[in-house]
Amino acid sequence: MNPVGLHHVTAIASNPQKNVDFYTQALGLRLIKQTVNFDAPHIWHLYYGDEAGSPASILTFFPWPGVTQGQEGAGLTTATSFSVPTESICFWQQRFAKLGIEVETPYSRANEDVLTLRDPDGMRLELVGTTGDERSGWDGVASIPMEHAVRGLHSVTMEQSELDPTAGMLTELLGMKLGGEAKQAAVFEMNGGASGALVNVLAGVNHRGLQAGGTVHHVAFRAPDIETMTTWQQELSSNGVQVTQIMDRQYFKSIYFREPGGVLFEIATDTPGFDIDEPLLELGRRLRLPPWLEPTRTQIEANLTPIELNEGEYSA
Ligand code: ZN
Repeated sequence: MNPVGLHHVTAIASNPQKNVDFYTQALGLRLIKQTVNFDAPHIWHLYYGDEAGSPASILTFFPWPGVTQGQEGAGLTTATSFSVPTESICFWQQRFAKLGIEVETPYSRANEDVLTLRDPDGMRLELVGTTGDERSGWDGVASIPMEHAVRGLHSVTMEQSELDPTAGMLTELLGMKLGGEAKQAAVFEMNGGASGALVNVLAGVNHRGLQAGGTVHHVAFRAPDIETMTTWQQELSSNGVQVTQIMDRQYFKSIYFREPGGVLFEIATDTPGFDIDEPLLELGRRLRLPPWLEPTRTQIEANLTPIELNEGEYSA
């Protein structure tokens, strides 16, 4: 198996409107899909990404009003990092200051500047200054010039009590390479380890995390197509990994399994993509449901807290 990079990260939020306002207006991602959690259709599933929702640009949320607050710790993904051009870190620092969003003082990790902040649910995000990331990002927010736009995912960081079991799965089963160790974190690279193809593992964390509001639910890696994913599913299974059946997620097909430290992993196909049920220009403007949920649309809509796409509290 050799996924070429991250596909998406999915996390748990509380208030859907605050989530939309923050990720579209403050961070400048595009809301590329309004749908529901297919396994629990009373809960929103909101997808953010670049213009088309390209693999490795996507962060998604299950916003669940009233959810308890999670806690960072072992067995969880505790940082989701996005790539911005290295000379844009200053722009983002100033922008967040203007918007009243607290950030930590940038520090250098593996020769890249890292700006750390938290979303409205306290989830840890990083903007990492990179060179040579040729992805274009989304230019839909007037106050974020294209040259500074978020390019896509950079990496995720998982916390674990022990490194070896997780490292074993990442390298031996998922074909990643141990790229180095910085600030106690081991860095695992996919396909050469460019931006969007990195997993950091911070070991030696002794308290367990609590997965709830403001924490990551799972991390998905890319499979080019369903044939490849089927082969990988068999390979995982024959190596004793409990892996699910192939699930139809409408915009991609998926399998799920846990790494030894407890983090839920998914493999998701690059195809068919987010314009399968609405035109590219109109992505994310209306609630979309897969065919099997369409008959219960009225009931589903009645159970969702409405959201609006507007300037919200971040009109800079
Ligand atoms: Zn997923």
